[in-house]
Amino acid sequence: MTDQRMKRRTFLAASAAAPMVALGPEKAAAKDDGTYAYPVSRTPDQWRARLSPIEHYVLREGGTEAPRTSTLWNNTAVGTYCCRGCDLTVYDSLQKIELDKGWVFFRHSHKDTVMTDLDLGDGMAGDPFAEMRAAMEVHCRRCGSHLGHIVPVPDVPDRPIHCINGFSLRFEPSSV
Ligand SMILES: [Zn+2]
Repeated sequence: MTDQRMKRRTFLAASAAAPMVALGPEKAAAKDDGTYAYPVSRTPDQWRARLSPIEHYVLREGGTEAPRTSTLWNNTAVGTYCCRGCDLTVYDSLQKIELDKGWVFFRHSHKDTVMTDLDLGDGMAGDPFAEMRAAMEVHCRRCGSHLGHIVPVPDVPDRPIHCINGFSLRFEPSSV
């Protein structure tokens, strides 16, 4: 499995992520203690039973797969993409961007299906500008699983796009 994994900092360097501008805190339903309650939750054992090791690494440990290791990064079929953690439909092939970088890129997600956070990864401890340097992390709104990042890509100059791990998604071909 090691060859399917990348250290987070390696990914950020590979994606040439520039400092990101935060879009503001997600306004989501909160429990009394202020934390967001994901509609789907599982025990650690349930997660490991549901997911393969590389899927668990990406979805539950916040990992990034090595480029070109999933079967979806160059998938051009028409259909939808679901979160492997809970089957919520999060992306559509209509929004997919074909880039020769080895991950799955989308212009945006389905409405209200993903949430964002700052990826304060390794090596940022004590960095007073950590929040400015951090990449925008994307996770599933229903189960909280890590999907990927929102990053600027030189090939798509008009806006940052979703750079998603193929192992975090399950593709459902369109039936028409
Ligand atoms: Zn999910």
